[in-house]
Amino acid sequence: MDIGSHRQRAPGSMYEDQLRMGFGGLRFSDFLESEFRDVYARENYQKSRLVLALCAIVVVAVTLVHVVSDNSSSVSMSHLGLTAMVPVMLSALFVSYLNNRFLYQTLLIVSGLLVGVAGSVIDVQASLAGQGYYFAGQVGWIFILWSMLGLLFLPAAALCLVVSLFYLGCAVYAPLPPEQLFFEAFMLLNANLLGGYSCFKIEHAARRTFLESRLLNQLAERDGLTGLYNRRAFDEYMERIWRQSRRENTPITVMLIDIDHFKAYNDMYGHQAGDDALKQVAAVISSAVQRPLDIAARYGGEEFALVLYGPATDYVTNLPEMLREDVLHLGTVHEGATHTKFLTVSIGVAVVSPDAGRSQAGAIQMADEALYQAKEEGRNRVVIKMSGTTVIETGRFRARNRAAG
Ligand code: GH3
Ligand code: MG
Ligand code: MG
Repeated sequence: MDIGSHRQRAPGSMYEDQLRMGFGGLRFSDFLESEFRDVYARENYQKSRLVLALCAIVVVAVTLVHVVSDNSSSVSMSHLGLTAMVPVMLSALFVSYLNNRFLYQTLLIVSGLLVGVAGSVIDVQASLAGQGYYFAGQVGWIFILWSMLGLLFLPAAALCLVVSLFYLGCAVYAPLPPEQLFFEAFMLLNANLLGGYSCFKIEHAARRTFLESRLLNQLAERDGLTGLYNRRAFDEYMERIWRQSRRENTPITVMLIDIDHFKAYNDMYGHQAGDDALKQVAAVISSAVQRPLDIAARYGGEEFALVLYGPATDYVTNLPEMLREDVLHLGTVHEGATHTKFLTVSIGVAVVSPDAGRSQAGAIQMADEALYQAKEEGRNRVVIKMSGTTVIETGRFRARNRAAG
């Protein structure tokens, strides 16, 4: 889980929604679309860099052959290779290392267009000079545009259409013999149909893999019943946020939230009703996660954990009390509770400033102690402990749990 990039949404996520809605038009909702394009571009950098480098070498080689042999009428045109195509391809190559997707894609498209347009002129001139085999280069370029530069289907389609029509326009203008023109048009049509089909399939598969892999990652770190982060993801997150808070010298607040007399609730209303109550409480806790670095998790059984990153402002110190009230106001009747006839939670809060002498386990232990105190004092309440101001006896709550278990 990346710090700052998580979303507190349950597994019924945007990735799942998008998979269900489909993406026949090769487009996701705006947020996912931009994430996908970044990933797709990153995945294709290596391939497109290789193609650009090879194409630049081929253009230089062909230009040299022209200059040395000097038997072609297109010598002046072939200089286009060195003056226009190679610089643009090398710029695109350079920009691919700058991590600017928009600029890179733009340069790729400009390179594709320039090579296609200049190549058309050179190929048609070569044909007129009796070197019809240059046309193979045009077909090859169409395939490269469709499948090797890592372009998405729509820009690739627009590019291939323009390049193909431009070539045919040059061939008609030249003019090439009708039978050659017909044959080349037929070959270009085939190259575009096959290239377009494979480009569509590649992008479609990439989009599906993108959604599925993200959904799987998300499911692996979520609790199946409540949709909150699970214990494993919480522990991992705690480690990272702890390191960050030490680096930035920023306090963090750990809350442990435990449903009161939940065993009695299960015994009285059944396990299914218990599950429903857990989901309701989880939804209240989840709604408290408003800021990018805060997270809520199911810590175990009927116990939840909430971590808030930042100084102990009024927001941080008032939140546990609000949560306690919100759960009470759910109005879930609990006849088996001794202190009130509704389902309630007790909350232990530890506000700690990480320093060399403290560990994250110590912070959780402190919240655990506060929770124990809240239970001892009658449940349905909040106890807050601030590090440095409160001396805490440790281990009592765990010892009690072990005795109970
Ligand atoms: P306390 O107020 O001291 O916290 O008492 P308690 O009864 O809530 O605590 P105890 O640890 O004795 O019991 C916890 C109960 O939570 C026991 C278990 O059946 C229930 N529980 C844990 N996980 C689940 C779950 O996923 N679904 C349901 N329905 N119940 C669960
Ligand atoms: Mg409990
Ligand atoms: Mg418990």
